[in-house]
Amino acid sequence: MLRIEDALARMLARTPLLPVENAPLAAAAGRVLRADACADMDLPPFDRARMDGYAVRSADTASASSDSPARLRAIGETAAGSVFGGAVAPGQAVRIMTGAPLPEGADAVEKIEVIEVLEDGFIELRAPVKSGQFITPRGIEARTGDAILKAGAGITPAASAVLASFGYANVAVSRRPRAAMLSTGSELVDVSERPGPAQIRNSNTYALAGYAGSAGAEIISTGIIRDDMAETRASIAQAAETADVILLSGGVSMGDYDLVKPALAALGADIIVERVAMHPGKPTVFARLGECVVFGLPGNPVSVAVSFHLFARPVLMAMQGAEMIHLPRVRAYLSRRVKGAPPRRSHQPARLRIDDGRAVADPLKWSGSSDLVAFVRAEALVVVPEDRERLEEGELAEIVLLGSAE
Ligand code: AMP
Ligand code: MG
Repeated sequence: MLRIEDALARMLARTPLLPVENAPLAAAAGRVLRADACADMDLPPFDRARMDGYAVRSADTASASSDSPARLRAIGETAAGSVFGGAVAPGQAVRIMTGAPLPEGADAVEKIEVIEVLEDGFIELRAPVKSGQFITPRGIEARTGDAILKAGAGITPAASAVLASFGYANVAVSRRPRAAMLSTGSELVDVSERPGPAQIRNSNTYALAGYAGSAGAEIISTGIIRDDMAETRASIAQAAETADVILLSGGVSMGDYDLVKPALAALGADIIVERVAMHPGKPTVFARLGECVVFGLPGNPVSVAVSFHLFARPVLMAMQGAEMIHLPRVRAYLSRRVKGAPPRRSHQPARLRIDDGRAVADPLKWSGSSDLVAFVRAEALVVVPEDRERLEEGELAEIVLLGSAE
């Protein structure tokens, strides 16, 4: 049985890199950038007012006080989107709105709240203004030519905004992985059906579609396969014609009707991983069928989630050339003990909170790896090392962050 790291390393060594394509910026959200992005101009492109007030020459205010205010002539106004026509000479000021370029001659802005605006076209300031006050100087955020995002960066909403600022109407991104989802199990019926005796509804497809979608995949097909060799073979072969990734669930344990591995072998697939020293999720299978990457994930819904996050997610991210392929990890104190599963590394669903300044993980009560209803609340996994029977209440444990939960 392979350790998790070794299994993932073998998978990544056989993960193809998808081609690059150009996408309009709005369609690039959530995808992976594949070329370095540079600033095409300084940002901000001009010295910019940060407050509504008056643009002044700071030297004019050097000796201002409440007893003897600095008196300046207001010579005009300027707002965001316009350039002030003239220049501010000694003894003068210009009314300015947030976002406007600083008029020539001025070197600071004073906010309107502390300025006395007189009837006769003059203003008074009761304290000195420092040079540069309330100005965002040209180029402080980026200079023309600066690398602002590296190839491999995820296009988050903030990254989209940065790309927009520098004129990236089209962005070089990875093609999205085309994922086919196949749920194996003769007991499975579609969500729209009422299960008969010994049947259950197929739920894995829906979890996997969401997980794969949030890892950038495009779901091209879904289906249920009976535990039948010919059907399993044919469905996998058909999916492999168009998919970059096939996510199978079920049919990988030791039962007589666990047909995923035999079907893959019969199709001539290269089976690279077939068991991993982890709990839940031990029978995780990874294979290559031509250019197509195939995951055989264990059928139990919680095992599917754990295996997906530890293996399929990083593989999907790597396919897209992402720099960050792993989920973030933190450490938190356990609010109660959790069981381990030596010699396998165990992952226990938990919620997180801050208590008295400390990160605390509340392991969820769950009845086992089919307990989807408990797992729905999980926002993290507590990692129990392979050599530990249990982790005690109060112990500091490694935590994998899963992202959004209820
Ligand atoms: P298997 O890995 O095929 O032995 O399945 C393990 C357990 O997971 C069995 O109890 C299955 O009924 C259940 N299971 C398998 N596939 C699904 C699915 N798509 N949705 C919900 N439960 C499933
Ligand atoms: Mg099954």
